[in-house]
Amino acid sequence: MGTIYFKNGGGTKDMIEVTPQPIIVSTGVGFHHEFLKWIENEKIEWRPSPSISFLENLYEFAGRLCYESWKLEDGSFVNKNLTKIREGNFDYIKNILEVDHGSVLEHGSIVILFHNVSRVFTHELVRHRVGTAMSQTSGRYVRYDNIKFWIPPSIYELGVADHFKDIIAATEDTIRGIYDGLDINNEKNFSIKKKITSAIRRIAPNGLANNILFSFNGRSLRHILKMRTSPQAEEEMQFVMKILQYKMEKEFPSLLQDFIKQSLYCKIL
Ligand SMILES: Cc1cc2nc3c(=O)[nH]c(=O)nc-3n(C[C@H](O)[C@H](O)[C@H](O)COP(=O)(O)OP(=O)(O)OC[C@H]3O[C@@H](n4cnc5c(N)ncnc54)[C@H](O)[C@@H]3O)c2cc1C
Repeated sequence: MGTIYFKNGGGTKDMIEVTPQPIIVSTGVGFHHEFLKWIENEKIEWRPSPSISFLENLYEFAGRLCYESWKLEDGSFVNKNLTKIREGNFDYIKNILEVDHGSVLEHGSIVILFHNVSRVFTHELVRHRVGTAMSQTSGRYVRYDNIKFWIPPSIYELGVADHFKDIIAATEDTIRGIYDGLDINNEKNFSIKKKITSAIRRIAPNGLANNILFSFNGRSLRHILKMRTSPQAEEEMQFVMKILQYKMEKEFPSLLQDFIKQSLYCKIL
């Protein structure tokens, strides 16, 4: 291949300014009819509460299963060691949290779409290996003709936001110049397209917005929220995770009952 002359992309400023947000995809599914039938057959008094989330019911069931801490329908105890049991989901999970019976909270999944988060954010998030699953936008498949970018408050406070926008626009322009120089739009071979797209990934900004679908169990949700809402956490992390905590507290008041309320400085979608 001879020398490639890259055309200038035209100096347009098309950067798309976005706001990172956590979107709830799923808070788990309901109990299977087979399980509900099993409870009936066992003549256990405990039933999942319809006013409580599926996962919090599941955590309670998991804990009670360990100690057989439920009564039979006739009021007697299954476990004859017991003389009383804790009633209610909130108090039951309170005790689970106090005694750190953490494995109970590992059942089931909460699935969150972190939308328009930077690769700075995702690089930190994927360090959480335990109790998680993830699927992220492919930098080898997806082209960056228009860069999506969130400018954090600190950059405005430093008075360099316009400078940042100029840098992103110039990068975007360079990237388009390379695409045009290599004639990617007329390229028929997908593996060459992928090679070009993948090469561009090396010069695309770290702050580029993309998406990651992330599953937590209750235990990893608690751990990650605690770590990533702390004042020591990275700015975008705090921004997004405080919104997530706010949303999760509404979904899971028992699971997050001991969390310190976070102040939000952002719009919640
Ligand atoms: C403020 C801050 C600054 C950071 N700075 C850096 C940095 O400069 N460089 C850098 O590389 N990383 C940095 N990190 C990342 C950090 O070191 C962790 O890798 C990341 O936060 C994932 O958390 P975790 O280890 O709790 O993992 P998780 O996967 O969430 O693990 C959950 C918990 O399981 C247990 N666990 C997990 N794996 C093991 C294991 N192999 N052995 C024993 N116990 C285990 C631990 O108790 C752990 O806390 C930083 C994180 C924060 C919050």
